[in-house]
Amino acid sequence: MTRSKAAGASPDRLGGPALVVETACPLDCPDACSLAVRVQHGKIVTIDGSEKNPVTGGYICAKVRRFGERVYGPDRLLYPGIRIGGKGEGRFRRVSWDEALECIVDRMKAAKATSGGESILPYSYGGSNGLMTQDNLDATLWRRWGTSRLARTLCAAPTGAANMALYGKMASVTYEDYPEARLIILWGVNPSISGIHLIPYLREAQNRGARLVVIDPRTTPLARSADVHLPVRPGTDVVVALAFHRYLFTRGLADTNFLDRHAVHAAELQERAEEWTFEKAAATSGVDATLLEHVAELYAQTSPALVKCGWGLERNRNGGSAAMAVLALPAVGGKFGVRGGGYSMSNSASWNIERPWIDQAEPDTRLVNMNHLGRALLDYNDPPVKVLFVYNCNPAVTVPNQSRVIKGLEREDLFTVVFEQVMTDTALYADVVLPATTFLEGYDFARAYGPLSIDLGKPVIDAVGEARPNAEVFGELCARLGLLDEHEPSGELDLLVRVLDALPPEIGGQLQSGARPVPPYGARPIQFVDVVPNTPDHKVDLFPAALDRDAPAGLYRYQADPATEAYPLALISPASDRTISSTLGELTRADVKLLMNPADAAVRGLTDNDLVRVFNELGEVHCTLTVFPTIRQGTVSLPKGIWRRGTRNGVTGTALVPDTLTDIAGGACFNDARVQVASLATA
Ligand code: SF4
Repeated sequence: MTRSKAAGASPDRLGGPALVVETACPLDCPDACSLAVRVQHGKIVTIDGSEKNPVTGGYICAKVRRFGERVYGPDRLLYPGIRIGGKGEGRFRRVSWDEALECIVDRMKAAKATSGGESILPYSYGGSNGLMTQDNLDATLWRRWGTSRLARTLCAAPTGAANMALYGKMASVTYEDYPEARLIILWGVNPSISGIHLIPYLREAQNRGARLVVIDPRTTPLARSADVHLPVRPGTDVVVALAFHRYLFTRGLADTNFLDRHAVHAAELQERAEEWTFEKAAATSGVDATLLEHVAELYAQTSPALVKCGWGLERNRNGGSAAMAVLALPAVGGKFGVRGGGYSMSNSASWNIERPWIDQAEPDTRLVNMNHLGRALLDYNDPPVKVLFVYNCNPAVTVPNQSRVIKGLEREDLFTVVFEQVMTDTALYADVVLPATTFLEGYDFARAYGPLSIDLGKPVIDAVGEARPNAEVFGELCARLGLLDEHEPSGELDLLVRVLDALPPEIGGQLQSGARPVPPYGARPIQFVDVVPNTPDHKVDLFPAALDRDAPAGLYRYQADPATEAYPLALISPASDRTISSTLGELTRADVKLLMNPADAAVRGLTDNDLVRVFNELGEVHCTLTVFPTIRQGTVSLPKGIWRRGTRNGVTGTALVPDTLTDIAGGACFNDARVQVASLATA
């Protein structure tokens, strides 16, 4: 089932003329680099940055430089297969596409006939962020067949909901305008790992005299280079932001002119911030009160001031309120209206691409929160999930409460399809595996969500083995289920044309002519000059009633830390320099390291390189300890996206994460895992 050929190919061994093919990276990363891929004899030799995109300017991350190892690696899926071993063993019989698709169609028909369409659960996330690989013909298939719907809330749901409620997802400050700022606050984000092309702009800002504040439980290299670092306790960002609001309101530093003209419900925010004195916020967040006050003063006194809102602050029970409070700061502080001032976060919605090519309305079927996959597979009965169709994601290692997810995948009466590029930890549990093309083997649209750029990615090599693009496979399934009219497009090129035609003219037309599209408001919009909130009244809503109703304790209300005496340590799982979520995790075979502060290690009698168990009531991970002075006391860290082969016992950090949800938008609470650590030798 998998490719035995050695990964990669050197130009010397291949010989012959080389061709450099331009494309773009659609993976789940803010930057969407333009790429120059060197191809020889139809094989990828090197992957590098091209100069086409001036922001990503000729260099790329080390992760995608290695992407050829995925394309030609031993884990690559080359043919469709039907399971012959036990669930989880990963043994499959090679079959034709026709046999595999017929098998899937038969099972989908049987499930619908016996238990209804909702017994089928499509499951996907951001394995590719491209417009061709997600929410295209796949959406047509699920909607027309009446399956359960999936709430894709694994990441960015709370920050996205906050940005929508406050500003209607107004375009935010782009990388090129960072050097204009005199103060930059990086809040819950580490662009040295994700979004590396921001770093030169940050350095330029610092060289021009900008002050840098980093808010992160870890003393990252960026935090070391900052003027102020606030190593907040995970889950407490909301109270720090509320203390800043309180300072602005009580000292008469809130911009009342701006609030009167452009915002509503400032009084409600002020009232919720009132209890958060610097002393109280310091006691909760574990950061010195004088440091908090210093940052609040800096923010109040400096313009242009820019807050970069990341995703680290949303991954906990208070994540929605934290994102709201952080994003509300430039409105209360009066930081809009100047280049380099305001806020910066995901710009993915700024292109106004509404995907009109999905021409079927969403049915009113069961909505399954993707963070509850374990529950859905094990507990849902009305109807039970009979067919699970996984693509663009690897839930066995990315979704909370791993042991429940795995137990669900082991169900003998569950029919699981995994449509993937490589044999992931999830694919091992499939009844049918389908080989998917990578972005280097097909067309896709690479839409950045840091800079404002969108590019058309093209195939640089032929499909490897019998891999097929998403568009073609979902088109084929639609056709076999009788869901497509003859005249409807179903192949990759037909769909490419349909998407290009359906894009706003300023995007589709420019992409077709080979130009770099620029949004109608310009490539470097100034907030409240070139763009205004897309809310119904074009005002900033600082206290949306619907969010206050949805949040269990109310909006901007702090929910206490879930630590217990038995499990006192907060486990975080930040992105690493090896994987993009779990993509490329197959290349990281080394034992992952748990990072722990020396004081925490000392009280447990642990030293560097000890084998340890990290555990709580949900599970237990065995790995090696790295004593790490730059992580705050009381917090430990395992990397995000590791595969089961990365730990000693085949259990990853998601096994320790509860499947509880954020206060707003049903996001995952990865940073609410509370654990204990002990030596494996003494266990
Ligand atoms: S993952 Fe990000 S930095 Fe790496 S090549 Fe893709 S867009 Fe560029």
